[in-house]
Amino acid sequence: MENQSVLDSRLIEKFEAHRDFTRVFLDAFVLINKEQKVLKFNAAFCQIIELRSIDIRRIDNLKEMLSTTIPGSEKSAIEQILESNAPTRIDEVPAVNLSKRKNLTLIISSYPYYENDGKMLGACLLLRDVTAETNLQSKYKDKTIQSITDPLTGLYTRRYFEEQIDKEIERCKNNNIIPKLSVIMFDLDKFKSVNDTYGHQAGDFVLAETARILKTQSRRSDVLGRYGGEELLVLIFDTSERGAAVAAEKFRQAIQNNEYVFNGTRIPVTTSVGVTLIKGVDDTKESAVKRADECLYQAKESGRNVVIVDFGQGRIPVQTFLGTNPEV
Ligand code: GH3
Ligand code: MG
Ligand code: MG
Repeated sequence: MENQSVLDSRLIEKFEAHRDFTRVFLDAFVLINKEQKVLKFNAAFCQIIELRSIDIRRIDNLKEMLSTTIPGSEKSAIEQILESNAPTRIDEVPAVNLSKRKNLTLIISSYPYYENDGKMLGACLLLRDVTAETNLQSKYKDKTIQSITDPLTGLYTRRYFEEQIDKEIERCKNNNIIPKLSVIMFDLDKFKSVNDTYGHQAGDFVLAETARILKTQSRRSDVLGRYGGEELLVLIFDTSERGAAVAAEKFRQAIQNNEYVFNGTRIPVTTSVGVTLIKGVDDTKESAVKRADECLYQAKESGRNVVIVDFGQGRIPVQTFLGTNPEV
């Protein structure tokens, strides 16, 4: 067994052949042997480790400066890299700067060095600190999700689903196809009296529960939104008039038949529903929402807990529409 320092000299010698190359690296690099003894490094490495070179030389081993993990693995990322025989790169490695107890996210790539007989001597690791970018990305992601969903119901916000209507009209316009998008609007019946009778918290529960029912009754491609206080909305893509009418009536029945129980008390809940379709690429979200809203108004006028549709032939009850448009 050869003396470790002889092997280390050989590793340094091989690395020195690439030395000019490393001078232009913007990333941090560190040359380590198989035991992770630190043999060479640059100023960028000092910055990541947040130690002076004199301290790095004193500590001597990378394991004592940096801990790295790979989710789901017992071995550290660097141990795994040293086991692999080929140049490797691992993105988004969770790491800890041990001297400062600071969490980092690193991209680590390695260039292994070998003896002439193929035995690995060590590796030059390139380290890039992507902590700031990763934090920013996840913050941005959270923010985007927050800004498009309503916290009480988990449904999309008005701005988001209005955008979806515009996008769909635009897509149809660009592809020269007729839009088949239906807008179904719900308004809970006598919701004020739910709040007055059972309390505001019970009202919140009813809203969240109604959103849950709509989610379970709808398809993945549907977009569910909260239009206002107790007004919810479902967009169904690629549907016929009949399909939209059937879906709206199914939603209404599911809400009526659901057992809403809050703090041991059963709360009867019904909704009125207005349905329309985007009529063509010249139609707008404003006029479609207005039509659905007018249907809703008529549903309230005609006694609530009913679906009124407007597909261009005036506002009519869903049963009348389905009766005159039987399934073929
Ligand atoms: P209608 O059948 O005519 O729709 O009667 P309504 O009582 O539902 O109609 P109205 O618009 O008068 O009342 C809506 C109520 O919804 C008033 C408001 O306090 C309540 N509301 C709106 N948003 C929320 C909410 O987030 N939580 C709770 N608990 N109540 C809400
Ligand atoms: Mg209302
Ligand atoms: Mg209402």
